[in-house]
Amino acid sequence: MTGDHPRNTGPMLSSQRCGAKTRSGKPCRSPAVHGKRRCRMHGGAAGSGAPRGNKNAQKHGLYTREAIAQRRQLGELMRQSRKLILKIE
Ligand SMILES: [Zn+2]
Repeated sequence: MTGDHPRNTGPMLSSQRCGAKTRSGKPCRSPAVHGKRRCRMHGGAAGSGAPRGNKNAQKHGLYTREAIAQRRQLGELMRQSRKLILKIE
């Protein structure tokens, strides 16, 4: 840089990096979009990503919100019953 103008690049330099894997195999060094974890080139741009409830790529539904919640609930039930059994014995 030339001149003696005090440049205000601190926030830009200290912001979170994108980190997406680039074609050279190294992590992307661009700053992430505010409020997102990727830069504007790697899925951080507004309107990028699949729409909510998109079923185009769904193969088995093992990772749908409902399936995950169901598994979590089942685990909690198992934990509670185990505790109850220990209490009874
Ligand atoms: Zn990036």
